Amino acid sequence: MYRTNTCGELRIASVGQNVTLAGWVQRIRKMGGMTFVDLRDRYGITQIVFNEETDADLCGRANKLGREFVIQVQGTVAERSSKNSNIPTGDVELIAKDLVVLHTSDVPPFTIKDNSDGGDDIRMQYRYLDLRRNTVRENLELRHKIALEVRNFLNEHQFLEVETPVLIKSTPEGARDFVVPSRMNPGEFYALPQSPQLFKQLLMVAGFDRYFQIAKCFRDEDLRADRQPEFTQIDCEMSFVEQEDVIEMFEGMIKHIFKMVKGVEFYDPFPRMTWHECMRLYGSDKPDMRFGMTFVELKDLTEGRNFSIFDSVNFVVGICVSGCASYTRKQLDGLTDFVKRSQIGAKGLVYVKYEQDGSFKSSVDKFYSQDDLKLWAERFGAKPGDLMLILCGDDANKTRKQMCELRLEMGERLGLRDRNIFAPLWVVDFPLFEWSEEDQRFYAMHHPFTSPKLEDVQYLDSDPGRVRANAYDLAMNGVELGGGSIRIHDSELQNKMFELLGFTPEQTEDQFGFLMDAFRYGAPPHGGLAFGLDRVTSMLAGLDSIRDCIAFPKNNSGRDVMNDSPSKIADAQLDELCLKIDLDKINNK
Ligand code: ASP
Repeated sequence: MYRTNTCGELRIASVGQNVTLAGWVQRIRKMGGMTFVDLRDRYGITQIVFNEETDADLCGRANKLGREFVIQVQGTVAERSSKNSNIPTGDVELIAKDLVVLHTSDVPPFTIKDNSDGGDDIRMQYRYLDLRRNTVRENLELRHKIALEVRNFLNEHQFLEVETPVLIKSTPEGARDFVVPSRMNPGEFYALPQSPQLFKQLLMVAGFDRYFQIAKCFRDEDLRADRQPEFTQIDCEMSFVEQEDVIEMFEGMIKHIFKMVKGVEFYDPFPRMTWHECMRLYGSDKPDMRFGMTFVELKDLTEGRNFSIFDSVNFVVGICVSGCASYTRKQLDGLTDFVKRSQIGAKGLVYVKYEQDGSFKSSVDKFYSQDDLKLWAERFGAKPGDLMLILCGDDANKTRKQMCELRLEMGERLGLRDRNIFAPLWVVDFPLFEWSEEDQRFYAMHHPFTSPKLEDVQYLDSDPGRVRANAYDLAMNGVELGGGSIRIHDSELQNKMFELLGFTPEQTEDQFGFLMDAFRYGAPPHGGLAFGLDRVTSMLAGLDSIRDCIAFPKNNSGRDVMNDSPSKIADAQLDELCLKIDLDKINNK
């Protein structure tokens, strides 16, 4: 037996027991004739004492240990004279009687401590060492608990966990597919699933009624802080449901997870807002509801005063920041620089300070009188001491997005984005289509299987942009945790949808023929959604990025720096797959 106990287990009640522990050497200290070793495993740290006086040979061997050696120690548990209240085992120590080195260790590239990680690159290269740190391990423990509670909850509600294939057919909609060449079918490719969408719908046709899967999904997109090329979805589908049924079920699941994993209880139903309202008030379809500062539109109040910047655009929008009228020139310049950054792209920022004495001071004083500014302040609902920040532009949506960034920045600066507060919001009534200026065509905003609202079906041909979908997202603290829709289950309407999206009948048949076939054999009304497990975990862990709740994540270039992938494959492998690499094209990229 390698060990009788873990390194996190021994307490004062264990004093006098003979035990064996095994783990990694966290730290060695020599004091007088004593050597103290902090022994670590997943469960905690226990102090081991080697006494030169009682066993010089054993102590000598202990003195030769290094950081991260794997050792086994047998000894007697004793009460410590100087206790350490910072760790649960801090009342006791193990007086060593025997020591076995199970494995030595090279000097690690960084010290394995909570607050020492050697920097991002090194952490990722030696991720197995990084994972020894408490903080990272705790995130993975949290992820495990969340997945367990998902299964508990859904199992209680008659959901069946069904695995769907990972090698599937490539479809052109949505993000880019990762593709896998097929050796047995030369020249042909599988795709890795962006989601199990079609399979879960087929499971509904098959009568499975309630399905879920904690599923790996793959999207070949450019990466951002909360994106990974492979990620995990809690993917769900139900039959004989309307939007309300789906929302109710999964609001229940999220509440269950927060309660069981974090002890956070939501007593009220999650608030809801239509997509249009979200965009109008927050410039985002995933607004951070932990604080206010909703948008106020001002164009009509700014006209006729010869301020050419406002006069020349269609749209003027602002937020009111409480208590910030005392912002200095430097702080205001900082905000202007912020909105002018290339990622945000605003041309400038107008401010109006509502001074404590009731007067106004603004960057547009030359154009607007105190009375004008008073009208603005009234529309904002501003009070003396408040600061109004205003942006303008011709493209209302673009300007709203810029204002959204500024609002989040102000929330951050004022400490309003507290990680211990969770503000959920169901965003409903998404548009069915999204117009792409670049491609001059409509795309499905959610996906082509999402159903239109019955009352909007009449506009499908005449005014597609006006059609709302039975689609919903759950946003929390400015993050989209998940989303889904009620699906089209009628082959005629589904065909119409493909047609509106610009598919020829041949393309529809080639890409989705199997789904259309299935719909001819009795498809129940169905709908569902998917949550990002990585995002739910990072939300509960209070992290900014999903990377640290994934055991082996990829970096921002989609690389795993630990095993150096993606990597080239041998010529023989390429040959077997009938593939050739276009070196000229690679060199010209
Ligand atoms: N498959 C969808 C997605 O990945 C979720 C859903 O509609 O259920 O976004």
